[in-house]
Amino acid sequence: MAFKRIALIGLGLIASSISHAVRRAGMETEVTGYARTEKSREEARRLGLGTIFDTPQEAVQGADLVVLCVPVGAMAAVMEAIAGDLEPGAIVTDVGSVKGAVMEAVSPYIPENVHFVPGHPLAGTEHSGPASGFASLFDNRWWLLTPDEGVDRQAVEKVKEFLTEIGANVDEMEVSHHDLVLAVTSHIPHLIAYTMVGVADDLGRVTQSEVVNYSAAGFRDFTRIAASDPTMWRDVFLSNKTATLDILGRFTEELFALQRAIRTGDGEHLFDYFTRTRAIRRGIVQAGQDTDAPDFGRGLTHQK
Ligand code: NAP
Repeated sequence: MAFKRIALIGLGLIASSISHAVRRAGMETEVTGYARTEKSREEARRLGLGTIFDTPQEAVQGADLVVLCVPVGAMAAVMEAIAGDLEPGAIVTDVGSVKGAVMEAVSPYIPENVHFVPGHPLAGTEHSGPASGFASLFDNRWWLLTPDEGVDRQAVEKVKEFLTEIGANVDEMEVSHHDLVLAVTSHIPHLIAYTMVGVADDLGRVTQSEVVNYSAAGFRDFTRIAASDPTMWRDVFLSNKTATLDILGRFTEELFALQRAIRTGDGEHLFDYFTRTRAIRRGIVQAGQDTDAPDFGRGLTHQK
C-alpha cells in the first residue's frame, strides 16, 4: 500500500514535519518538494527534506501522493498550477486548517483520474518555515479527513495508512462539522489570544515594559498562541467565516454573562462556571492530548 513518491507542495512546519516523520518511519518513499521562494527551497535542500524542485509542476511529476502544505488562501492557485502534471491515479491531499473553503476552491481543478482526500492535522506550533519541523509533531495527534462521499475508498484507506505510519490517529468527519468543531477548539481560541495580547500591548504602552516583565503564565500562554503565523491565521478566519462568527457570537454572550456576574458580585456563578471548565482540562489530559505536569511540563518557576 505504501506510496512510492510523495510530493510536498509548500515546505513549512507541516511539510517539513511530514518529511522528517517519513524518514523516521523508515519508509522507502521518495520525497520531493517545492516552496514559493528560493530562500525556503535552499533551506529545505540544506536540511535534506527531499529532492527540491524550482517549480511545483516538476515536484509532482511521478508522485502517487501530493500533499498541499501551503496557506489555505493559496491552495486553489497551487492546485491549478499542478493539475496538468499529476500522474493518473495519484492522490491529492491537503493539510489546510479549514476544510469547506479549501474543498470548494481545490475540487474544480482535480483531474478526473485523480483522487482528492482533504485532511487536517490537529498538530502544530507557533513556528513556521522549513527549519521548524520535527518528526514527532503528529505523534498521537488527530488527523481529520473530510472526503466527499463519492471519493474512492481505497484512496482514503491508503492515506489513512500513511498518516498512521507517521504517528497520527486518523478519523473522518463531515466537512461542515469539521469547520464548526475547529472554530471552537482552535480558531476562536486563537482570536481570543490575539485580542488579549493586543490589549496588553496597548496597556504596555502605558506601563512601559511591565506587561512583558511580569507576564504571568496565563498571559505568557496567550503570547505563544498569538505568535502564530499571520498569513495562515488571516486565511483561516477569511475562509471559515460562518463557523467562527457563530462561535464568536456565543463567546460574546458568555463573556457578557461573566461580566455581569463580576459586576453584581455573583460569586456562585463564577465558581460554578470555573468548576465546569476545569473538568474540560481533565478530559483533555485523560485523552492523552496534553501533559498533566504543572505549567505544561515546562518546569519553570511560576510567577503569580
Ligand atoms: P508555513 O510554515 O508558513 O509554510 C507555508 C509554506 O507555503 C511555505 O513553504 C511557503 O513558501 C508556502 N507558501 C506560502 N504562500 C504561498 C503561496 N501564495 N503560493 C505558494 N506557496 C506558498 O506554514 P505551515 O504552518 O506549514 O502551514 C501550512 C498549512 O498547514 C496551512 O494551510 C495551515 O492552515 C495548515 N496547518 C498549520 C498548522 C500549524 O500549527 N502551523 C496546523 C495544522 C494545519 P515560502 O516559505 O517560500 O514563502
